[in-house]
Amino acid sequence: MAKKIYLCSPHMGGGEMKYVKEAFDSNWVAPLGPNVDAFERELCVATGAKHVAALSSGTAAIHLSLIMLGVGPDDYVIGTSFTFSATVNPIAYLGATPVLIDSESDTWNMDPGLLEEAIQSLRSQHPSGTGISARSVVGPQSEGPGRLPKAIIVAHLYGMPARMKEIMAVADKYGIPVVEDAAEALGSEYMGRRVGCNSKFGILSFNGNKIITTSGGGALISDDEALIARARFLATQARDPAPHYQHSVIGYNYRMSNVVAGVGRGQLEVLDLRVRQHRELNQWYRELLKDVPGVTFQSEPSPDFYSNFWLTCIVIDPAVAGTDREKLRLAFEAANIESRPLWKPMHLQPVFAGCPAYVNGTSEKLFENGLCLPSGSNIDDEGRERIAEVLKREFGI
Ligand SMILES: *Cc1c(COP(=O)(O)O)cnc(C)c1O
Repeated sequence: MAKKIYLCSPHMGGGEMKYVKEAFDSNWVAPLGPNVDAFERELCVATGAKHVAALSSGTAAIHLSLIMLGVGPDDYVIGTSFTFSATVNPIAYLGATPVLIDSESDTWNMDPGLLEEAIQSLRSQHPSGTGISARSVVGPQSEGPGRLPKAIIVAHLYGMPARMKEIMAVADKYGIPVVEDAAEALGSEYMGRRVGCNSKFGILSFNGNKIITTSGGGALISDDEALIARARFLATQARDPAPHYQHSVIGYNYRMSNVVAGVGRGQLEVLDLRVRQHRELNQWYRELLKDVPGVTFQSEPSPDFYSNFWLTCIVIDPAVAGTDREKLRLAFEAANIESRPLWKPMHLQPVFAGCPAYVNGTSEKLFENGLCLPSGSNIDDEGRERIAEVLKREFGI
């Protein structure tokens, strides 16, 4: 059996061991330390953010951002429906209710028009009145004035920036803070700025399959120094200044380890190279499939959008393409090549079945017909040949 080709496997740059060794040589094998401090500074440069807290995961970063925004059990928090569950889970950690918003058809990210519909209907206490969603009937139960959602979490999926100008215009109109889930989009840009910096908070992930990895880790980024200081405090068990251990608020153990940060420092040295490699692979797929009817790519709608193309994703119209998503996925699998259906929308997940959702059919169609193609920057020429062979056979090209 030929060697397995993964969707996106870790791709070390070569510099990682130097920083890891420093941690060992100084016996700084602990949470926090010089590598963490340096990684935070280097992340500021890499993202353009003024302040960064390196954390144990992207999920922890989302959780802390919502805590600092004061989210609690009676609140609504708006989230992208078409995403990985980690975008939305922290809303539930706090006992708040996720309100799920469908995607627009070009970026595949949160639809700004639907976002405003949702806010208006939550505010007016008539969430079933929009006529848009069959699912929007679940809403506030209490009588009285409607409530604005406490926060909006918008994901930049597969690296593609969401339509932030429009989303921020809606959010600012109603005074609702925005958290950008840029877990998949480190290195992507929107209107000339790296994503994660267009709102109150951005979050990053360095999980094993992301565009760069620390084996597991994340970060919270913001231009607000006090909020990042607060995040560091909460992430280290919220210890009050005192010689003994004293606590006035609930804390978390969410900081990054000094060993792991060493891996991150080495990975950051090759971030720009990785972005170029992922974009080049995306271009290779486009060239290969350009004459196939019924295949469309997730694409940048205008020069304002610059995706890291963490994953190259396609949608297959089975009526035209002569094959379908599942047939292609199985053909890859038979050749020991990993591919994956697009995210199953959160409003279709059993665990979020009772949540208000504003849907337009886009994410359901993406889920039905979409596939993430193998996208690792470490796929060599032989790997590309094997991938091309499957695609040519399945599409008859
Ligand atoms: C990976 C991911 C996360 C979570 O990051 P972790 O570091 O794995 O906790 C959140 N949102 C999206 C969209 C992701 O892809």
